[in-house]
Amino acid sequence: MKRVTLTFDNGPEPDITHGVLDELGARGIGAVFFVIGRKLDTEAGLEAASRAHAEGHIIGNHTWSHTTPLGEIFGDPAIAENEIGRTQEAIGACAHADKLFRPFGGGGAISERLLNKRCFDYLKDDGYSCVLWNNVPGDWKDPDGWVETALETLADQDWSVIVIHGMDTGAMAHLARFLDELDGIGVEYRQDFPDDCMPMVRGEVVRDMTAFVSDHI
Ligand SMILES: [Zn+2]
Repeated sequence: MKRVTLTFDNGPEPDITHGVLDELGARGIGAVFFVIGRKLDTEAGLEAASRAHAEGHIIGNHTWSHTTPLGEIFGDPAIAENEIGRTQEAIGACAHADKLFRPFGGGGAISERLLNKRCFDYLKDDGYSCVLWNNVPGDWKDPDGWVETALETLADQDWSVIVIHGMDTGAMAHLARFLDELDGIGVEYRQDFPDDCMPMVRGEVVRDMTAFVSDHI
């Protein structure tokens, strides 16, 4: 049976996240939410993330601001603390023991835009786990067609780590249909990741990361 790890990035957005949680809850599916720190800075945002955690979902770190990809930043000695550490603090008691961090940049491409040297060192020294992906259907740019794209990619995979966004793009209107399709295929939902999507585990580099760490410090 195929394995599927659903990851919802760039939230929480209370108007969207609660609907996603309702849908997952009704089906008994556990997922992973990679949240943006600044979106936890409101009561409603924090409440949505706390609900996700309370309902058995895993909360991961997806930077504080989600503006410039970390691999493109240099000359900012506080970047790791501000983007990664501050978010982890905001996640607080909802954090996973593995300190999951997902970088961004490049519309799903795995490139040197993902991390700079300073952030890489920070993740390593602070015992984070780095989580990548292998199925990015582009829901943000194709809110009505991403379901088919995700299914096409998934057809060739044993374990699909799907990146979709809990954002107000219209894409989540198709979440139920997507989950129905997965029901039809028959998949095992997971909240962990295949080895090739997790190159750093609790600060230990277990796979070569040079392809997505720039020299910038
Ligand atoms: Zn993102």
